[in-house]
Amino acid sequence: MKRLLALTYGDELLLYSFPGGHPMSRRRVESFYKRFLESFPTQLLDNIEVIAPVRAVDEEVALFHDENYIEYVKKMSEIGRGYLDYGDTPAFRGCYDASLYVVGTSLKLAKSIIAGEYLRGFNPMGGLHHAMRERASGFCIFNDAGVVIEYVLNVIQGSNVVYVDIDAHHGDGVYYEFEDNPRVIFADIHQDGRTLYPGTGFEHERGKGAAVGTKLNIPLPPGAGDEEFKRAVDRVIEFLREREFYIILIQAGADGLAGDPITALEYSELAHRYAVTELKKLANERCEGRMLAMGGGGYNVDNITRAWMEVVRVMAER
Ligand SMILES: [Zn+2]
Repeated sequence: MKRLLALTYGDELLLYSFPGGHPMSRRRVESFYKRFLESFPTQLLDNIEVIAPVRAVDEEVALFHDENYIEYVKKMSEIGRGYLDYGDTPAFRGCYDASLYVVGTSLKLAKSIIAGEYLRGFNPMGGLHHAMRERASGFCIFNDAGVVIEYVLNVIQGSNVVYVDIDAHHGDGVYYEFEDNPRVIFADIHQDGRTLYPGTGFEHERGKGAAVGTKLNIPLPPGAGDEEFKRAVDRVIEFLREREFYIILIQAGADGLAGDPITALEYSELAHRYAVTELKKLANERCEGRMLAMGGGGYNVDNITRAWMEVVRVMAER
């Protein structure tokens, strides 16, 4: 019988770690996995397979990214210093390779789900949702979610992709790069852009041209907690119910939990449990259960482990 969930882990994913005390460091994913090994319910372990990271090739990255930008990252990765953007995303030696592993691993999960090898997948290092086609942004070098979306749209003709982002920050790299694509059904719950990077994701941003109405942005005020979040999730589910789609992608950033050092939302890990449970019900009903979650942000290590344990637990149950 096929396993319900493929979880990706390995040293290659830990390479995506900025130096010098930067909040995006290897400790995040490492600590989550340690907690997973120590305390994940044993009766659910049979439903999970841990699979190794996979390195993407340039042509795969180029499904989403501009080729000149890929070359630029390659060069900056050799130089190994300076910034890839205006000061959030440092270049470091090997950052190109590290980024290829993030993309290749999310893509591997998408391919395995399409092939029917697993029903669901989770790449804790994935969800680098700020990267644009032509530039790095907000700790994100290559946008693995963007690459996965392009890939699925290519191989599954005539169907749509759902992307739901619960990271505290707006998923601007996914939103703007697919703003006019009606096949990308986008929903994003985040801290109000007037109070947090990247300063976007307002209610009136509902897509462009033929895609108007296929995007839903729900900004929440600083201090919003589980109740506000759950109401937002209910709106997302209602919005998605009207659509046809092949798979649900989730960016499960944990930086909306109270105590994150760089945001001001106050969810608990029950937010993640609720969102993934509701999306799973919808996926089971509407797209044969296919779901792919990516870790996203989160800079309080204890919060990350608690939120992602919920994500994995819900996805490892029927
Ligand atoms: Zn974030």
